Amino acid sequence: MKPKIGCIATCAFVDEITAAIGAAGGIPVLIPINIGVGPAEAYAQMIDGLLVPGGEDVTPALYGQDPRPQVVLSRQAKDDFELALIHAVKALNKPIFGICRGLQILNVALGGTLIQDIPSQVKGAISHRQLTEIRGELFHRVKLEGESVLRRLLPDEEFEVNSLHHQGIEALAEGLRVTARSADGLIEGIESADGCIYAVQWHPECLFARYPHFLPLFTHLVELSTQK
Ligand code: MN
Repeated sequence: MKPKIGCIATCAFVDEITAAIGAAGGIPVLIPINIGVGPAEAYAQMIDGLLVPGGEDVTPALYGQDPRPQVVLSRQAKDDFELALIHAVKALNKPIFGICRGLQILNVALGGTLIQDIPSQVKGAISHRQLTEIRGELFHRVKLEGESVLRRLLPDEEFEVNSLHHQGIEALAEGLRVTARSADGLIEGIESADGCIYAVQWHPECLFARYPHFLPLFTHLVELSTQK
């Protein structure tokens, strides 16, 4: 039986996400978010691993900040459900892989904060926002830091990724460490001490068809989910 990988249904690039989970040997399970937080625990029991995907900005109140004008499309009902799901899956020691907003909300779930808008808040930042239409193309370099899940899965220490975000990690949550950065110092990868939670700021689901060296990021989640 292939492992069931949960992912909220209202996410960015859902076709690419489900294709990546399928190509990695998992069964994608799309989870609705318009049902209140109650069923989060039941969904956590049902799945073997969780993919936390890209999407809208996380509601700044959830990390103790007032929203800046550049914050777009916050949906607190979605944030509340996804936070409940993350906590329920983590409590069951099931693996979690975060992508873009997924990296950001994992950091918020564990007590960290976000940069609400990189262009207006970070002096000297490179561009992190390519056009959605060319999301399958490489856009900026990242460099891995130290031993990590990413270092074991990817062939090189430095490589190009795509980039479709205007937010990033500000204060890193306790229990997480940085595994990758862009040249401007912004955080592009994180993981937990046991590697059971790992996340990237780029979108490998939009790259793996053309750049297959990114598929192991998904295969690893499926393999961790098989062991549970
Ligand atoms: Mn980036």
